[in-house]
Amino acid sequence: MSSVSRFADLGLADPLLRALSDSGYESPTPIQTQAIPRILEGRDLLAAAQTGTGKTAGFTVPILQLLSTRAAARPGSGRPRCLVLTPTRELAAQVHESVETYGKHLSLRATSVFGGVNINPQFRALRGQIDIVVATPGRLLDHVGQKTVDLSCIEILVLDEADRMLDMGFINDIRRILKLLPATRQSLLFSATFSDDIRRLADGMLNDPVRVEVAARNTASELVQQHVHLVETHQKRDLLSHLIKENRWQQVLVFTRTKHGANKLAEKLSKDGIPAAAIHGNKTQAARTKALHQFKSGRIPVLVATDIAARGLDIDQLPQVVNFELPHVPEDYVHRIGRTGRAGTSGAALSLVDGEELRLLSGIERLIRRPIERIQTEGFAAPSRPANDSPRNPRPSGARPGNGARKGPPRGGPSKGPRPGGRRQGQGRSGASRGNRV
Ligand code: AMP
Repeated sequence: MSSVSRFADLGLADPLLRALSDSGYESPTPIQTQAIPRILEGRDLLAAAQTGTGKTAGFTVPILQLLSTRAAARPGSGRPRCLVLTPTRELAAQVHESVETYGKHLSLRATSVFGGVNINPQFRALRGQIDIVVATPGRLLDHVGQKTVDLSCIEILVLDEADRMLDMGFINDIRRILKLLPATRQSLLFSATFSDDIRRLADGMLNDPVRVEVAARNTASELVQQHVHLVETHQKRDLLSHLIKENRWQQVLVFTRTKHGANKLAEKLSKDGIPAAAIHGNKTQAARTKALHQFKSGRIPVLVATDIAARGLDIDQLPQVVNFELPHVPEDYVHRIGRTGRAGTSGAALSLVDGEELRLLSGIERLIRRPIERIQTEGFAAPSRPANDSPRNPRPSGARPGNGARKGPPRGGPSKGPRPGGRRQGQGRSGASRGNRV
């Protein structure tokens, strides 16, 4: 046990301790242990933390405490004291929800503003005293332009998933927003990765920040059981239907590369009797919220999503992720599988890989520094030239002997003894399908 393993030791007041306990959290996660006391001290923070680490509570809880224990300098309509910027509307909605959850025993007022929905209710919500605004950059600037929000009294700024914001081209919007904020303020920056652009942004906006870092970038890859199923492209959809039925998956998030692909796959699964919804940028906010709600409540077992749409989805204990197609960028694979195995729970990720994707697969295996175990299903042949895969199988420099990972994928196609019914063959080693944890 570390010396600090209780929320009560982090300097949090009773209303916040009660809210955390109501949420069922027994002890702080590492990012919470590190960040909460420093934020309470009023320090700026540069945090390397991915979604899934508990970072949202790590900043919302101490911010709620700070705001509740000091009076607003110039209380007034549309003049928030804390601004949280997020890359996506889903993440904004979720951070807002967290603020409400953890602030339920306090009387602070929070709202979220993001694009893709009617702006009028947001005008109304911004009227009157408001303490916390969670926003996506573009819509926030719309409000600034309409003078429905005044950022001159911001005491605390949070940039959440800053790397994603830059990836999505928000840098100019962020610069414009920074210029509207008081120079004296507390600033917190959270990012999963640290490119030169992020460092420049951090240098410009943080004042003598405390640096906290939890879990290397690829930690998710160690928490999640990963498998690859080599398969011909045209068989992928049937294979997925088969696996969902066979394994009786109740809640599976499936990634596709394109919006069109997400729609087609959701339709196909529905035709096969597996209720599925697609969630992507062309869907209205209302449709996305509905699909997410149905998925979270267990009414539809399959949600098919593109990378951008899935970013920031807060789904507790998601047991199974499927990569219907591999992402082009290996880091996105780690983000995707990070949707499962969150906050210490174990999860599983299966990637359906065709011949064209073997190159992407080796890039991923290099990044996570180990080979991913192959599985096969009767009736679903590997791509016709699987031998191509063998030389590509990495012997990564960082692979540790004895970590349970296979030393190489089994080759030889379906004759490797696929079990009737198409269950994982487990590579002939008992327990292999549950193994591979480092
Ligand atoms: P985040 O990294 O903020 O997206 O949080 C990931 C998930 O962990 C969320 O579903 C939270 O509800 C959950 N969570 C946050 N803090 C804790 C904690 N101390 N104990 C257990 N679960 C937590």
